[in-house]
Amino acid sequence: MSAVIIFTTFGLATALIGKAKGSSFFIWFLVGAVLPLLGLIAVVLYRVEKNEPERRCPRCGHVHKIYVQVCRYCGEDMYLPDPSEVRHPAR
Ligand SMILES: [Zn+2]
Repeated sequence: MSAVIIFTTFGLATALIGKAKGSSFFIWFLVGAVLPLLGLIAVVLYRVEKNEPERRCPRCGHVHKIYVQVCRYCGEDMYLPDPSEVRHPAR
């Protein structure tokens, strides 16, 4: 019985943090309930994807997060981009 309470509590805590960071409540609830402590750590470390700066692949034009180093569509190496090509969704 106490295990159910622990899983539910961790699931809810993880889900609330995940939702606050703009991710899915349901997915993070599952992660938190299945992996009680690990899920909570994961959601705290999880970066807010929609606030990450983006830039466009110079070869194929697909948009990637700034930390992506190789285009997953065409394999183009993407080094540090020109500042004018970086897009900041949060601003
Ligand atoms: Zn590309």
